Amino acid sequence: MISDTIAAISTPMGEGAIAIVRISGVDAVGIADKLFVSPGGKRLSEMSSHTIHYGHLIDPLTMIVLDETMVTILRAPNTFTREDTIEINCHGGFVAVNKILQLVLRSGARLAEPGEFTKRAFLNGRIDLSQAEAVMDLIRAKTDRAMQVAIGQLDGKLSHLIQELRQKILEVLAHVEVNIDYPEYDDVEEMSHHLLVANGNEILVEINRLLQTAQQGKILREGITTAIIGRPNVGKSSLLNSLLQENKAIVTDIPGTTRDIIEEYVNVNGIPLKLVDTAGIRETSDVVEQIGVERSFGAIDRADLILLVLDTAEPLHYDDIDLLKKVISKNVIILLNKADLSHELNVAELERYSNGHAVIETSILRNTGLEELQKEIERLYFLGNIQDHDLTYVSNARHIALLHQAKESIEDALQAADNGVPIDIIQIDMTKAWESLGEIIGENMHDSLIDQLFSQFCLGK
Ligand code: GDP
Repeated sequence: MISDTIAAISTPMGEGAIAIVRISGVDAVGIADKLFVSPGGKRLSEMSSHTIHYGHLIDPLTMIVLDETMVTILRAPNTFTREDTIEINCHGGFVAVNKILQLVLRSGARLAEPGEFTKRAFLNGRIDLSQAEAVMDLIRAKTDRAMQVAIGQLDGKLSHLIQELRQKILEVLAHVEVNIDYPEYDDVEEMSHHLLVANGNEILVEINRLLQTAQQGKILREGITTAIIGRPNVGKSSLLNSLLQENKAIVTDIPGTTRDIIEEYVNVNGIPLKLVDTAGIRETSDVVEQIGVERSFGAIDRADLILLVLDTAEPLHYDDIDLLKKVISKNVIILLNKADLSHELNVAELERYSNGHAVIETSILRNTGLEELQKEIERLYFLGNIQDHDLTYVSNARHIALLHQAKESIEDALQAADNGVPIDIIQIDMTKAWESLGEIIGENMHDSLIDQLFSQFCLGK
C-alpha cells in the first residue's frame, strides 16, 4: 500500500496559458484544502468527485494570494493513479507554477519522481506494464501512425494477446500437473503431449506474427535514421528544407544528452525519418569550399536509410561514384535532382554503380519527385503498404527481447516433446515461456527493474 502523497508539475516548463500541478495520494484533497479558497467558502473535501472549481490559491502562512485557479477534484478509485487526485490549473509561466508546487510540497506532499504517477497506476493495478510503457510512447509519438500504435497498446491490445498466450501455456501446465499427480493414467500423458504440441505450435505462430510486426513497429516508434548525402551543391539542403517545410518537423531534446543535440524528424506519410547530421548540411551549404563528401561518410555509418542526391545537370563525378560505392550495401534511394535542367548525367553509367537501388528523378525547385520518394520509403520498409490500425505492433525493445525468449522456450519444449523427453521435464521450458510473456505485462518483475523502467518517464507523468 502506498501511503505518501506525491506532486509534480505535469505540463512542460516554459510560458503557456495554463500549467497544471498534479497531486496524488491519500492526502491530496487535504493538502489542496489548506491552500484553496473558493468564493463561497466551500472546502474541496465537501465537493463531489470529478468536478472542477474556481477559486484562489493562498499561502496559508502569509495569506498572500498566489494565483487565480481552477481546481479539479478526482476521488479514488476512478483516477489515473487509482488514488485521490487533485489537479491545480494555474497560470502558465515558470515562477507562478513553481511557487504553487513549492507550496504544495510544504503542505505535505513529496516531489514525484519521473514517471511516478504512471508507476502508481501500474502498482495499483489500473494498467499493466506494457500499457504503462504505451503512455510514454504516446507522449513521444512523432507521427499519427506511431500514436495509433501507442493508443492500441494503451487500450490493452498487446496485453490481451499476451494474456491469451499465457492462458494456453497454463492449460498445458495444468495438464502436466494432473499427469504428475495421477501417473497411473497412461492416456493423460498422451493427452498432455498432444495438447503441448497443439498449443505450442499455436503460440509459436502468434509470437512469430508479433515479431514480424516488430521491425515496422520500431520504425513507427523511433523513426528511420536517415542521412541526406551528396556532393556540394546537388540540392541536399534544398531537399532537407523541403522535407521540413512540407511535413511537420518535430524537434526533440534527447534525454540524457546536452541540450545542443537536437534530433530533427520529418513525417513522411506517417513514417518518421530521423535525420542525421542536418547541422552539417546547413553549415556547408553556403560555403564555397564545402566538405560535403567527407562529412557524408560519417553520416552513412550512422544511418539506416541513405538519400543520395546527385545532380542531373552534371556528368557523374568521381565523388558521386565514391559515395555510391560506400553506400552499396545499405538501404539507398538515389535522387537525380535538378531534373528540371538539362540531363547531363549518363544513367547507363550510373546503373553500373547503383546496384539495383531505386533511382528517382526529382526537382526540389519545382517540387516534383517527392511523392515517388515517399512511396519508395514505404516500399522499402513496409512492403508498400502500412497495415491498418487494427494490427498490434510490437515496438518496444524490451517486449521484443522477451518475445524472442518465450519463442526459444516454446521451441525447446516442442523439440523435447519430439525427442520423447518426459512431459514433466518439458514443463520447465513451458514455465519459462510463461514467465517471459508475463514480464511483458509486468508480472514477476523485480522492483529494481520496475524502478528503472519508470525512471525513463518524464517528470509529472
Ligand atoms: P547542397 O550544397 O547539396 O545542400 O545544395 P543546395 O540545396 O544548397 O542547392 C544548391 C543550389 O542548387 C541552390 O542554388 C539551389 O537553389 C539549387 N537547386 C536545388 N535543387 C534544385 C532543383 O531541383 N533544380 C534546380 N534548377 N536547382 C536546384
